Amino acid sequence: MHTMKRIQKLPDHLVNQIAAGEVVERPASALKEILENSLDAGADRISVDLAQGGIKLIRVTDNGGGIAAADLPLALDRHATSKIGSLDDLENVATLGFRGEGLASVASVSRLTLTSRPHDAEHAHQIVAIDGTLHPVEPAAHAPGTSVEIVDLYFNTPARRKFLKSENTEYAHCEATFERIALAHPQVEFILRHNGKVVWRLPQQSLAERVGALLGRDFVEASLPVDTGAAGLTLSGFVASPTYSKASRDAQYFYVNGRFVRDKIAQHALRQAYRDVLHHDRHPAYALFFTLDPANVDVNVHPTKIEVRFRESQGIHQFLFHSVHKALASTTAGASPAVTL
Ligand code: ADP
Ligand code: MG
Repeated sequence: MHTMKRIQKLPDHLVNQIAAGEVVERPASALKEILENSLDAGADRISVDLAQGGIKLIRVTDNGGGIAAADLPLALDRHATSKIGSLDDLENVATLGFRGEGLASVASVSRLTLTSRPHDAEHAHQIVAIDGTLHPVEPAAHAPGTSVEIVDLYFNTPARRKFLKSENTEYAHCEATFERIALAHPQVEFILRHNGKVVWRLPQQSLAERVGALLGRDFVEASLPVDTGAAGLTLSGFVASPTYSKASRDAQYFYVNGRFVRDKIAQHALRQAYRDVLHHDRHPAYALFFTLDPANVDVNVHPTKIEVRFRESQGIHQFLFHSVHKALASTTAGASPAVTL
């Protein structure tokens, strides 16, 4: 005999915690959400402080546009965003965030403090959320811009906390997230500290300088610039010459409209472009920035937006393949002829 259970709406807090399971897999994912918010706010100076691999503390401070005092509680509310307001906006989204669930998710599984001062405001204000419960907005001291402080991630969800790896491993994920984001924004000054020590200090610089700082001078010296465009598509960045190739996929940075993504179509096209010049068990290394009309790519496929869906995937495959093949051919003249699709 089955007993009938009545249906009930889940309380908001529980909904947020469930969503946090998708959005905030580990400290690095919380870091990604708040770094992207700083970039969306137009910051050109961002500092990151981590303690104990990000498990104890993640603090990001920016000099971006800030949040009005009256909007602070909304910033922590689920499905509340300043970035889109209609389906049309969603289809043309140019910001990194738009789902309005990043801060709400993080706040539901941590002790979060959001402090902000818009550029035209005389004072800053602050809101604290503990275990998803919002405390009243209070005056605070802060330069123009915003700080988000996340303390004790998963303190209230022991089952999730158990899935965290060692501090070293969690730190490594945080650093990788920081590097992916910093690589794509050379016009922004970044600092990363871990347990009080400066790990990265990146001034505003050119893309070549930023790539050199993060991926190494040897990468830049062994790489070929890519800079192509056709029919609303552009590809720029650097591809390593085959002699540099690493045995792992660690040095594969591919961005779509400024967003780091893992995309099968792109990976396949790039792999093909290297096919004649790279031994099959080696992996190409690259830092490539692909742009297209936001209306032609769906970024709303995955909660963390690591995957995207292209409207014209075949044309994009061809464009990526030809762009990289051409760059590689400039040094490997005499190698076997171009692979045709
Ligand atoms: P989303 O980024 O998808 O809009 P979030 O939950 O990450 O959702 O943030 C909610 C809102 O809070 C943002 O839309 C933005 O208006 C505001 N916000 C968050 N972080 C910042 C920041 N660093 N600077 C300015 N505004 C911010
Ligand atoms: Mg966001």
